[in-house]
Amino acid sequence: MDSLKDFLAENSHIRFATPESPDFADLCTVFVLNETRNPSMIVRPRSAEDVGALVSILTANDLSFTIRAGGHDMFGRCQVDGAVTIDMREFTHVHVDTESRTARVGGGVISINLIKELERFKMVVPHPVTPTVGFVGWALHGGYGMLSSKYGLGVDQILGATVIDAEGAIREADETMLTAIRGAGGTVGVIAELKIRIYPLDQVLAGAILYQPNDLSVTIQKFNDQLRESKKQGLPAALGLYQLVNNSPVGKTLTVLFVWASSDLDEGQSWLSKVTSWASVAVNAVIPTTLTAFNEIADSLVPKKVFGSIYTATVYDLTPEVVDVISKHAPLQPNSPDVMYGIHEFRAGTPYLETGSVFYSHRPHVIIEIIPISQSPERVDEAVKWAQSFHLELAQTDAVNIPPFCYIPLTPSRGLDMKTIYGTKYEDIKAIKKRYDPLNRFENALVQP
Ligand SMILES: Cc1cc2nc3c(=O)[nH]c(=O)nc-3n(C[C@H](O)[C@H](O)[C@H](O)COP(=O)(O)OP(=O)(O)OC[C@H]3O[C@@H](n4cnc5c(N)ncnc54)[C@H](O)[C@@H]3O)c2cc1C
Repeated sequence: MDSLKDFLAENSHIRFATPESPDFADLCTVFVLNETRNPSMIVRPRSAEDVGALVSILTANDLSFTIRAGGHDMFGRCQVDGAVTIDMREFTHVHVDTESRTARVGGGVISINLIKELERFKMVVPHPVTPTVGFVGWALHGGYGMLSSKYGLGVDQILGATVIDAEGAIREADETMLTAIRGAGGTVGVIAELKIRIYPLDQVLAGAILYQPNDLSVTIQKFNDQLRESKKQGLPAALGLYQLVNNSPVGKTLTVLFVWASSDLDEGQSWLSKVTSWASVAVNAVIPTTLTAFNEIADSLVPKKVFGSIYTATVYDLTPEVVDVISKHAPLQPNSPDVMYGIHEFRAGTPYLETGSVFYSHRPHVIIEIIPISQSPERVDEAVKWAQSFHLELAQTDAVNIPPFCYIPLTPSRGLDMKTIYGTKYEDIKAIKKRYDPLNRFENALVQP
């Protein structure tokens, strides 16, 4: 620890905090308050060179460390008690190149800030549904979002990376290293910068559809019957849908976030008419708008800090059996304001990289996230009980519809079997890890082959 302190004394431009610092508690805080840990120190490097020097000192002195950016890992895994946190929140730059349709983005940029900057150039990129999530942390392990059916997941946007490796060296990731980064994230290094694809798009049709709150089960059934039928005909790639049940201003109801990502707004309006006909609507707040405006509304609705957890079930398809379970548990959802469940889909036809990625599966699948959170800790227990029984019943549905993989960022680490999750990609991750981080310096990365 002494050599780290000497290094920080010699590099006064690098901010850091120890448990004695007045801003320590604030800097440690993550999205889920009960998952906040007590690191030995938080260091906020400002350049790749800073990170390189830091990693060298940490590894030379056998000091355990973690990487933190947006702080939205639901299990607080960006920090470990007693370890040093490398806090990437100073890495916020966004450099846009409209000609090559690429951008270079800092390892700590927050999703909404990236969306805003891209919008100045009339460009977009897939991004998380919640705007306060770190973009790089989201993209590294999968990255599901409202634009994914058109442009792919977060992993599929990664064209290059500036990485600080296990030796503390700064390197432009070669194709082998990039393969691991696309799906296994920070297992081979700290990402100072990603080079990503971006896409020209100006206006979108976006907003929320709130269905009538009465007879929630029937509404969920009707909506999903229609969704299933429409998928058989083929949904347009430009149509992004995220269904959730929350405690909305009209009561506990099915809400569907709708994004039409194409300049053909007439076709978008026609799809909006279809989706709003799938069940009785209470409020249709979908309008021609921009992604920034849409994300700003989402930002104002999502709490900034919560207590609670997440339970996630992955299925191949929203079969009638799965929808039966959902429509049984939705009405039982506690009325606490922030509790919700939501559904991410990797739909048929979603574009993806054929090679150069270890992302676990390109077979269509669905992630049902059950989120028992609250700003009041005393309201969490009831919500957790509901989430557990909902989750258990989903796990008991037809095993043929349940894949061997799960979405690691939304799943607790305990009991995770990387070999089962990554299947044929597992040996690739292992080999790449052995090549770039044989001593497992990045022992706290989410993916551990
Ligand atoms: C409210 C909420 C909404 C979410 N919405 C979505 C969604 O719509 N779609 C989706 O797919 N996921 C979603 N997630 C999951 C989220 O994308 C992941 O948990 C993501 O890893 C969070 O990144 P972060 O930087 O905010 O979090 P952090 O906790 O700071 O980081 C999480 C992990 O990412 C790695 N990491 C982050 N930055 C770097 C870096 N620069 N270099 C190396 N490793 C790094 C580290 O291993 C770190 O432990 C959501 C999570 C929350 C809490």
